[in-house]
Parts: sequence; structure tokens; C-alpha cells
Amino acid sequence: MNIFVYFESNPEFFLFSVFLLSLLVGSFLNVVIYRIPIMLKREWKADCIGFLSDELDQKEFNPEQYAHHINEETFNLSVPRSRCPSCGHKITALENIPVLSWLFLKAKCSQCQSSISIRYPIIELSTALLSVLVAYYFGVQWYTLALLVLTWTLIALSMIDFDTQLLPDNITLPILWLGILLSVLGISSISLMTSVIGAIAGYLILWFVSQIFKLVTKKDGMGGGDLKLLALLGAWLGWQALPLILFLSAFVGAIVGISLIIFLGRDKNIPIPFGPYLASAGFISLLWGEQIKQFYFNLAGI
Ligand SMILES: [Zn+2]
Repeated sequence: MNIFVYFESNPEFFLFSVFLLSLLVGSFLNVVIYRIPIMLKREWKADCIGFLSDELDQKEFNPEQYAHHINEETFNLSVPRSRCPSCGHKITALENIPVLSWLFLKAKCSQCQSSISIRYPIIELSTALLSVLVAYYFGVQWYTLALLVLTWTLIALSMIDFDTQLLPDNITLPILWLGILLSVLGISSISLMTSVIGAIAGYLILWFVSQIFKLVTKKDGMGGGDLKLLALLGAWLGWQALPLILFLSAFVGAIVGISLIIFLGRDKNIPIPFGPYLASAGFISLLWGEQIKQFYFNLAGI
């Protein structure tokens, strides 16, 4: 393919293209992160109302009382257009350029001057930088494109979990299957067996951990989304990556969790989302897993 040859002979241009593309993707991720949880909650609400009106009679449950929850205006990833949350001003194309618009608007809505969170450009910029890192490590090949999709997924999942303590199935499951498919097609660098065992082991390890946690504390400590996220990482990176991912996420999670409790006085009964730690541990072991293992083996003198 021509573009591949061109990219290979112009690596800087390749990285720059990935950077620009990923800035745009980062802007889309902002939409995904904000809207998917709202879309899910609407769906659940409608399901609950439907279920209760089937189960209970009119006296106990009058569905008309809840009709306004079902007949809300259309809301998905493309409709309605993005608006300023304060004044409802519709964001124009010029105001929607990743990072640059935020800088030119000086972090303020052009109509009502209310401030726009720095989180949006930060997510755009981190998406672009992490993507360039992946492109740099893996070079010009189809597998790199797949790994970019994985990177974008991990960013979206981390932020959604951070905001809402949800890891939506409609993101984790398709990407889990995609990981296995890439092994079937021989695009990914790991064998089908490694990928399938990775998915199974990823799920079951955390399932055992969560069951034991439940037995000991009589509380649900870990959401089902975490199990599926580790299955996803196992499918993409192979079962051999799982020990490192678990170690890194538990390590970072413990440090952040303990510092939150000590320094911010956070109530230790408030659940801390585990998804962002799993996702970052997965990303780290994708890029540096081999080096970290080598370093550890050298330390241990093996
Ligand atoms: Zn406004």
C-alpha cells in the first residue's frame, strides 16, 4: 500500500499525522465520556419503568407518572449538537477545534463567558501524546492502528469510570472481541491461544478476588466492569501480561487510595474506581512490559 511506503520513508510525517488524527479522536472521546453514561442511565430508566409496569398493577405502579422519563428528546453521540452547559449556546465548528479553540476562547464560552473546563484540552492532548507514543513504538503497520483503537478505548473507559464508577459493556465487550479477532486474523503479535486464555484468566482471576472479598467483608468491592476490563486486556496482550497488570494496578491503586485517605481525609468506605488503574497498567505493560520484566529478572538475578 502506497501510504504505508510513504509513511515508512517519512517517519516524522507519520507521527505528525497520528498526532493530528488523535487530537480529533480526543475531541470525540470528550463527547463519548460525557454522553455514554447519560445514554445508559436513560436506557436503564426506561427498562425499569417497562419492567415495573409489566410486573405490577396500575394501583402499585402508574407508568404515566414516569412517562416524561421515557419521552425525553433524542440524545446520542451525534444528537443534539454540543452546547454550552450554562447558556445553551451551540458550539460552532470554529469553537470546536481541539485544544486551539480552548486557547483562543481563553477557556470561556464566547456567549456567556462562563469558564470551559481545562479537562477537555487535557484529554485531547493526552490522547494525541499517548497515541504518538504507541505509533513510535510499533511503527507503520495495521497492528498499530488496532493498538491506537485500544489506547483510545482505555482513555474513554478510565474517564467514564472515574466520573461515574461505570465501565460500560457496550465499550468493553466489542473491544474484547476485537482483541481476539485480531489474533484470529494474525494481525496481533500474540497467538489465538494466548489471547483466549488471557481473556478467560483475566475475567476469572478478578472473579475469584471479588468473591473472596465479598466473603470476608460482606460487601461488593469490585464491579463486574473491572472483570471485563481485565478480560479485555488479557485478550489484547495475552495471559502472560496479566501478573504485571495486576501488580502495577494494585500498587498504584494502593498508593493513590491511601494518599487520598491520609491527605484529603477521604472516607475509606467510598469506593475508588479500579478501572483507571487497570487501564493505565494495561497501557504501561503494552509499551514497557518486556523491559519491566527484564529489569525485575535482572534484579532477582535470574
Ligand atoms: Zn455559554
